[in-house]
Amino acid sequence: RTWVEVSRSQIAENFRNVRQAVGPGVEVLAVVKAGAYGHGAVEVSRIVAASGARWLAVSDAEEGVLLRKAGIGTRILVMAEGLCFEREALLEHQLTPVVHDLEDLAELERFAASRNARAPYHLKLDSGMGRLGTRTGGPEILEAIGRCRHAELEGLMTHFASSADYSSSQTAEQIAAFQRVVEELGAAGVRPRWVHMSSTNPVAYGRREAFGNMVRVGHALYGYVSPAKGDAPKRTLDVQPALSWRARVLAIKDLPAGALVGYGGAYRTERPTKIAVVAAGYADGVPRHLSDRGSAF
Ligand SMILES: *Cc1c(COP(=O)(O)O)cnc(C)c1O
Repeated sequence: RTWVEVSRSQIAENFRNVRQAVGPGVEVLAVVKAGAYGHGAVEVSRIVAASGARWLAVSDAEEGVLLRKAGIGTRILVMAEGLCFEREALLEHQLTPVVHDLEDLAELERFAASRNARAPYHLKLDSGMGRLGTRTGGPEILEAIGRCRHAELEGLMTHFASSADYSSSQTAEQIAAFQRVVEELGAAGVRPRWVHMSSTNPVAYGRREAFGNMVRVGHALYGYVSPAKGDAPKRTLDVQPALSWRARVLAIKDLPAGALVGYGGAYRTERPTKIAVVAAGYADGVPRHLSDRGSAF
């Protein structure tokens, strides 16, 4: 009685539009964590891979293994791994971990050495968001990298806290903090293949200085861009929602003026009104906060 429909062609078009917005010099990594934001990780991965995506990102190894088992052959970045029992799966399924601190890096090196395997990884810097990522500076990072023979630094990344907020200087400060470390490493001859900072919002508002040579795009793929705050430039990215939630109409009836409708009598008809009762409720995920507020076609 109630179901969602996801448009494959709309997801493909959103991916194409993101690629066009960043241009040919910037790789677009498609974020398909959390079941592709509810759209279906395997399906979405197939669509974007068929549209040319070479990189996907998931949260943990389990999500990555699921994609491998479905035959997805692109590179897969595991962004929020941290449980040591998942290391085995990372190597076995050729998933690329994000390393969040230098102790983890030493662990990854020990593990890869014990298997005599090479383990490419992306190092995440906490440039000011205060969540995952190392806060150490260039010299300590260089020392830790220098101790590795099997773990190979393939990417450097960070994540923004306020990327759609143009009334805040936080993004500019984060870019500067990140670039400082990139330059410290570069001065020592360490230049990872991929340097990436941006998720959807910097792409949507064209903040090119935050692109590096890769962007990690999540909600834009599904058709959404966060509304900007402050003095934002014009949005340059055109994407449309790919998911519709549908439900059957169970009954249509006429109520007189002044009749109450729904729990708590939340709505009172102002005039004789035709009412449609739709087969979707709280158990299906309709937020209770939408009582007397939401709308549907
Ligand atoms: C979820 C996530 C993204 C994608 O974010 P969107 O705002 O949905 O584009 C990018 N990078 C990291 C580290 C994430 O966790």
